[in-house]
Amino acid sequence: MKYSEYLCPTYTRPNVLFVRGLGSRLYDAEGNSYLDFTSGLACNPLGYSHPLLIQEIKEQLDFLIQTSNLFYTEPQLLLARKLSDISLKGRVFFCNSGAEANESAFKLARVYGKERYKILTAKGSFHGRTLATLSATGQEKIHKGFEPLVSGFDYIEFNSLEDAKKKIDKKTVAIMVEPIQGERGIYPATSEYLEGLRKLCSENDLLLIFDEVQTGIGRTGYIFAYQSYGVIPDIITLAKGLGGGFPIGAMIAKKGLGELLQAGMHASTFGGNPISTRAGLVVLSVINDRNFLKDVKEKGNYFKEKLSSLPHKEIRGVGLMIGMDIEQDAKEVVKQCLEKGLLINAPSNNCLRFLPPLTVTKEEIDEAIQYLMLCKT
Ligand code: PLP
Repeated sequence: MKYSEYLCPTYTRPNVLFVRGLGSRLYDAEGNSYLDFTSGLACNPLGYSHPLLIQEIKEQLDFLIQTSNLFYTEPQLLLARKLSDISLKGRVFFCNSGAEANESAFKLARVYGKERYKILTAKGSFHGRTLATLSATGQEKIHKGFEPLVSGFDYIEFNSLEDAKKKIDKKTVAIMVEPIQGERGIYPATSEYLEGLRKLCSENDLLLIFDEVQTGIGRTGYIFAYQSYGVIPDIITLAKGLGGGFPIGAMIAKKGLGELLQAGMHASTFGGNPISTRAGLVVLSVINDRNFLKDVKEKGNYFKEKLSSLPHKEIRGVGLMIGMDIEQDAKEVVKQCLEKGLLINAPSNNCLRFLPPLTVTKEEIDEAIQYLMLCKT
């Protein structure tokens, strides 16, 4: 069947059809195996077919799949409590994706701001593809063709406190940044920057929002990347890894803030459904463990050290969120890796991004390095 005849051509895809996943590997319809160092773009932190996830989801399927948010369901309450306990001790709003989690944060910021509505975001950022989140995204190529943009966003230089100070005016209500810019090619914020933004927000009654859609849920060797900086935001947005492969998004707002979203102000039909939230509970039960997180940090350091033996311009990142700038055409390297059985991606022409499952082994890292070494450029 020619899928390309039926689907909107929104993605450039190679001619591979995946039918099965196990651990760090995917298998195509012909039975070929691929080591997946994209882990579904950071959505499968436990790898594929994790036994506990399969067991609990099967059990949940037998109990209850969905009811709408007109009623309480147990996994939703348990996951909200867990997320709150391990972060801001505030309230959670569930939705289905990173973009929706960010939309929720924008709406909450506008409610908080009353007549103030302006949100500053960083150049090079990525916050999603809905109209408001693409408008918040500080990249012209994402805006192109969708103007007029949603108003109320302005862009600041990433890692420049001076620029943030300059752009704040009496209509500003919030600053949103990713602790590490993922889609741009893994660019970490400096400690001084996030500490400075915290101070700036507190002094000017602005909300500090961290988009942890990519950095969150153990990816950096911390449950949330903000913990490694010791800078506490007012709002955190999550998605990707939280569902272990099931679609979920979450916004966590500090105590006293989330309460502002009163009945009727925001909603999501599928948000916080029993399957996705049960999956979130499993993911956290595995990842929120000192040894597991220590292992992620160690494997990240091991991987970076191995990568540094390959020709490169720069290696960036923390934990298992790694970007490597190279001289060669990164898309060509991605293509060659696919042919050899390794999945990676290229966020730009000269950058390779590695987001393996957090359960990846050192042997699999060695194997990935072997494939990369074999790439001809
Ligand atoms: N925010 C960040 C930092 C992301 O990396 C992404 C997706 O890559 C999003 C938001 C959007 O998430 P989603 O594709 O689930 O809407």
